[in-house]
Amino acid sequence: MTYVRRRRGGEQLVGQMPVRRRDHAYRHLTVLVATLLLPLAALVTGGGRVRERACEWAFRVRYPFEDLTGLTPGTKAAFIAARCAALWHDAELIGLTSGHRMYAEQRELFEEAVRSYGSESAARQWVLPPEESSHVRGRALDVRPTEGARWLERNGDRFGLYRTYANEWWHFEYWPEYRGTGRQPPMRPTPGG
Ligand SMILES: [Zn+2]
Repeated sequence: MTYVRRRRGGEQLVGQMPVRRRDHAYRHLTVLVATLLLPLAALVTGGGRVRERACEWAFRVRYPFEDLTGLTPGTKAAFIAARCAALWHDAELIGLTSGHRMYAEQRELFEEAVRSYGSESAARQWVLPPEESSHVRGRALDVRPTEGARWLERNGDRFGLYRTYANEWWHFEYWPEYRGTGRQPPMRPTPGG
């Protein structure tokens, strides 16, 4: 998945999402909503994971069309924990653009990319066939906005979440085996590289 993909003289430029003035307001509004929901979360949860529950509710208000289904339980738990830490500690938002994808959906994306880029090898710079895609395995997360992705790049190690492609600032994968080891999975230049 890409956000800003422009062709200029045949070159592909993948930019960052521009920071809009209202993004700042969204961040603080989401913190406010989460804070207001704390008492209700305490009531519902009986005292455990109160901040996480309130945070998830607030994210549902901010990103109502998000879909976390199909992610592996570990990936989903890591993502929720990470974005709640980002919200409560740094008032940073991390939204999910694309998580788990069905096999057929990924095949369609790949075929579409082959058509628009002209070859399989060119398409693989951006999207992998379903047999190779970590989105199909439920271990990949495409996130937004750019600031949220940067937060996850700096702090993801605590949760086993790592950016894995140099050309996709938004793509993260769950690799619990690296968590806290000081190492991280190799950063590849492109999905197919
Ligand atoms: Zn991705």
